[in-house]
Amino acid sequence: MGKIIDFLFPPICPICGAPCDAHGMMCAACWATFNWIGNPRCHICGYPFAADLDLGPHPMCPVCAAGKNEIHWMRSACVYDDVSRNIMLPFKHAGRIKYRHIMARAMIGLLGDMPATPDLVMPVPLAWGRLFHRGYNQATLLARPIARHLNIAIDVNSVRRKYRSDMGHKSARERAEHIHGVFCVVHPDAVRGKTILLVDDVFTSGATFSELRRVLMRAGARDVWGVTFCRVVHAI
Ligand SMILES: [Zn+2]
Ligand SMILES: [Zn+2]
Repeated sequence: MGKIIDFLFPPICPICGAPCDAHGMMCAACWATFNWIGNPRCHICGYPFAADLDLGPHPMCPVCAAGKNEIHWMRSACVYDDVSRNIMLPFKHAGRIKYRHIMARAMIGLLGDMPATPDLVMPVPLAWGRLFHRGYNQATLLARPIARHLNIAIDVNSVRRKYRSDMGHKSARERAEHIHGVFCVVHPDAVRGKTILLVDDVFTSGATFSELRRVLMRAGARDVWGVTFCRVVHAI
């Protein structure tokens, strides 16, 4: 069946339209333009280090080494730069959901590194007003194939997000203040005792993940991890 579909609809790269090996993949030329995050990276938060550094089997960034990072496992597939922004922004704001397969595939490639299989996959919620305006939550589109891959449930109902203005170009501290209190666990029974994998398109300062983790842990979650397609990388 797969062969017939490939014959009728040959797989093409969703970015440039060139033929590629399989549906849901990008071509090798496009793949080579991304700044993929590999080893060595912080084994807790996934912060990338220069490739020639030998940091042993469990590298740790200064933030995690100082115990200032609350999330115990966090990964991103690539660095947020001009290349990843060129698919991420249309995916998020212009309805280019065709990119979801290549983005989710890159994220699934990171999951073998998780400490265990989580109980739930949870896309970072969007405020209702934004969801209505946009028509979809881009994080949910990425979370569905991840939940399917892990063969676990996806939870899009247990947490609500209040509407707040955009974060814009705020500092890390301003972001943390801006996001405080924005999430509300409306079905604590669904998250109590559960290990939850949060999914989003981009990791910026970590303020959103920290705040969502805080409310989930307060509601009784066992642990909260995270995975995103790309990540803003500042020197630390
Ligand atoms: Zn391509
Ligand atoms: Zn770290």
